[in-house]
Formats: sequence, C-alpha cells, structure tokens
Amino acid sequence: FNVPAPVNEPVKNYSPGSRERSFLKEAISSAYSVQADIPMYIGGEEVRTGNKIAIRPPHNHQFVLGHFHQGDKTHVKQAIDAALAAKAGWENLAWEQRAAIFLKAADLIAGPYRYKLNAATMLGQSKNAYQAEIDSACELIDFLRFNVKYMTDIYAQQPVSSRGTWNRLEQRPLEGFIFALTPFNFTAIAGNLPTSAALMGNVVVWKPANTQVYAASVIMEVLKEAGLPDGVINLIYVSGPDAGEIIFQHPDFAGIHFTGSTSVFQNIWKTIGNSIHKYKTYPRIVGETGGKDYIFVHGSANLKVANTALVRGAFEYQGQKCSAASRAYVAKSIWPELKKLLVRDLASLKVGPVEDFRNFINAVIDEKSFDKLAAVIDQAKADPGIEIIAGGKYDKSKGYFIDPTILVTQDPSSVTMCEEIFGPVLTLYVYDDEKLDETIELLDKTSIYALTGAIIASDRYVIEKLTNALRNTAGNFYINDKCTGAVVGQQPFGGARGSGTNDKAGSMINLLRWVSPRTIKETL
Ligand code: GLU
Repeated sequence: FNVPAPVNEPVKNYSPGSRERSFLKEAISSAYSVQADIPMYIGGEEVRTGNKIAIRPPHNHQFVLGHFHQGDKTHVKQAIDAALAAKAGWENLAWEQRAAIFLKAADLIAGPYRYKLNAATMLGQSKNAYQAEIDSACELIDFLRFNVKYMTDIYAQQPVSSRGTWNRLEQRPLEGFIFALTPFNFTAIAGNLPTSAALMGNVVVWKPANTQVYAASVIMEVLKEAGLPDGVINLIYVSGPDAGEIIFQHPDFAGIHFTGSTSVFQNIWKTIGNSIHKYKTYPRIVGETGGKDYIFVHGSANLKVANTALVRGAFEYQGQKCSAASRAYVAKSIWPELKKLLVRDLASLKVGPVEDFRNFINAVIDEKSFDKLAAVIDQAKADPGIEIIAGGKYDKSKGYFIDPTILVTQDPSSVTMCEEIFGPVLTLYVYDDEKLDETIELLDKTSIYALTGAIIASDRYVIEKLTNALRNTAGNFYINDKCTGAVVGQQPFGGARGSGTNDKAGSMINLLRWVSPRTIKETL
C-alpha cells in the first residue's frame, strides 16, 4: 500500500517576536471581533435553530465570543437519517479516496487553519498557546496522518491460502452509524473520534461537549473544505438525554466512540445493554473515561526529573488532561529537598488569561468545575490531616482561576488520593522508604482507574520491581517522565479498569473496532 509515511508534526514555537506568534495573535483578535454564529452541520447543510447559546472564554466569562445553535431530538433524527443516506456512497468509495480527504484535512490544519483552530481552542477551552499547539495542531494532524497508515496496515493483514483456494479478509465498515461523543479537554480527541471511524468507511453522528463547540465547528469547516461528502460526519449540539433517547433506541446504531466521564460511559453502556435486542448488530463500545493518574517518586530519583514531572504532569492545562497526575507518592528520604523545588516552582507559575502568553495556568473549564475544585480546597483547609504547601487560592470574578495547589496528606487512602478531581490540585503522600512494598500494594489497591502512571527512580532493580508490580494500574506507564503528553505513533493512548476499554487512540487497535471483517474463501 502506497501511502505517505507519517512523521510527527513539528511543534511551532510561539516565542516573543516570532512570525508564528503574530499570526496566532491575529487569529485571536479576529476571533474576538467576529462574533461567531455557529451552525450545526447535518447532511452537509448548515442548520441554525435560533436557540442560541453563548460561548464565553472560561478565563473571561463576561465576554461573549459568539453563539452556537442548539438543536433537539428532531436534529438527532435528521443527523441519523443524513448519515444513513450517505452510507452506501461512502462505504463503496475506494479507500484511497477516503484517505486523501483526511490527509488533505491534516495539511489544511498544518497550514492555513492552524492559527484559527489554535485560537478557537485557546479561547473556547482556555488553553495556552503551547498547550493548544500540541493538541489542536500537532496531535490532531498526527491522528489524521498516522490513521491512514494504520488503515492500510489493517488491510494488509490477510490469511494464507492453500492450493486450490484463495482466502481473503475484507474489512467492511459496521452496519449502521457510529456515535462520536467528544470531551472539552482535547481538540485532537474531538477530531479523532469521528474521523477515525469515518476513515474506515463508517458514517457518523458527532456530538461535542458544549464547552468545545467552538473548536469542533472549525474542524468541521476543515473537513468540508477537504472534500468530505455531505452526511458522512454530522455535527450536532444537543443535550445528552436528547441524543441518548434517539440514538440508543435506533436499530442502525452500530457503535459509540467516546471520551468523557466514567459515570456517563457506564450509563451509556447500561442503556445499550437494555436495548440490545433492538439493534441489527452488536454495537462496538469504545470509551476512554476517568483517571486518577499517579507519579511515584522513589528515594533513588533524580530530583530535577521528579520536580519537572510533577509540575508539568499535574498542572499543565490546569490538570484537566485525563492523563494528568493527581496523586503522588514521594519517598521520605528525598521529600525535604523535593518539597523546596516544588514550592519554589509553583510560586513562579503565572496564572491568568491565555492572551498573555506568559501565563502557564489558565482558567478551568466552567463554573461547575470551579465550584467543585474550590470546595475540595476548602475541605482540605479544614482537614487537620492535610497540609497545603502551595496554592490554595481561587478567584472566579473574571475567569475561573484556581492557583496550582498541592495537598500533602497523612492518609494515603483519603478521598483526594483516590477520587478523580480534574483540576490543578495534586494530592501527595510521603511514604516511608522502608515501606516500599506496602506503598506499592496500597497504590494498586486504591487504583480504581488505570489510565496513566509514572515512576521516577534511578535504581534499576527498583524500576524493574515497580514496572512489574504496577502493571495493572496504568494503560500508559512512564519511567522517568511525566504521565501526560502521549504522542501519536509513539505512545498509543488508553487505559483499563475504570478508565476505559483501552482501545489505544492513534493505533491499529482502535481502527480495528470500526470494521467488521468478512472472510471470503474462493475455490479456484
Ligand atoms: N493523550 C493525552 C495525554 O497523553 C491525554 C488525553 C486525555 O486527556 O484524554 O496527555
């Protein structure tokens, strides 16, 4: 199969005075001045319902950037009909034609749309320039390009034939439509969930989180410009119940590609189970859900490595990556030194709006999230078993800002050591170096989730021991690095236990879920 060999998209540098920075600033100003009026896209048509919902930057919530048009159950039905109407044409198109559309989309994002999409992510989701660049530019481009290669790897897997026969595997798309449900925190995921299923020949109904509509609509513009036929991907903004009521009762529902919360995913799974007799085929259920990701710092750790891993792993994008470190275990012998580094570095992190490129920490996504995090911090303040060594302040007067906060707990099984928080709050437990085995066991026992985890150590015997003992606690496991920032093509991403079905985004494993193979035996 002759497809362009994918290479990871280089990260652009937005340093002061650079051309990139001025282009991005221009895109931000134009987003501020335009007052976007964002339609749904059903069967290739722009649909405006007049039920307009305001889009406000989380770091500047008094400002209205624009509006999107909210739909209802009628639009869910229309989107399914449009998808099914497009199905025969799309699945019979040669794979090269499908691939060319997504490769073109990648080039459009790498080129003319890069700044517009980054600006939409920065303003809509409160990501700083670097975080937007590695997400809505590099990771999304990589998903689109690498998936084309993985698709051909799948097609290349063929059975052997004995004399007088010719055996073939035909990778059919699923019979029906796919529902893509995407989260606020990554524009790359928003792009990947619908396009990976569509690349394999499926038609899709796509519902992004309300807090992600801005960037999602730019992705849709790109796909249209790249030549995606009408109806192959239909983008709708409807409530969860409206979508669920129609989609999960439909006989042609063939699969869900999901990233979001554990509770929503479990409810969806139950609903699908209860409706199983209604479907033509067993739907594929693919989901990446919550996490309670950890960094384990051994006494043999390099302190600088540990410090950087903790600061970046826990606080980049305000700790709102599913992969973000939200609990840490640190050996007592090195804690005093590490604590000094952490306290110094956290005090130097600037908190504020994305338009000022010096800000490392921006706002959390919305008021609900802010209030929940503020309550966690207040409870910690009132708990005599917790010491707050950094942060602890919050302010929602202009934007939803929470200072990067570290809670040091005496109880390794406490709520904030076990439950997902999703924000810039790291809970840290200092363990006795003599009690390594007990601490490992405790970490395993309290890992309801298993998305990412990192160990920082230089002793090889310890690295080996931790790697083996913690094998079920993380789908993405890092040695001497932070637990975030998986790169497409390099670290396929996904977790097990409560964190999802571990179908590794950005890999052949994921694409295999979107085909239903037919084995053909021909007697010659
Ligand atoms: N792939 C991202 C990372 O490695 C996380 C994706 C997510 O938050 O779901 O940081």
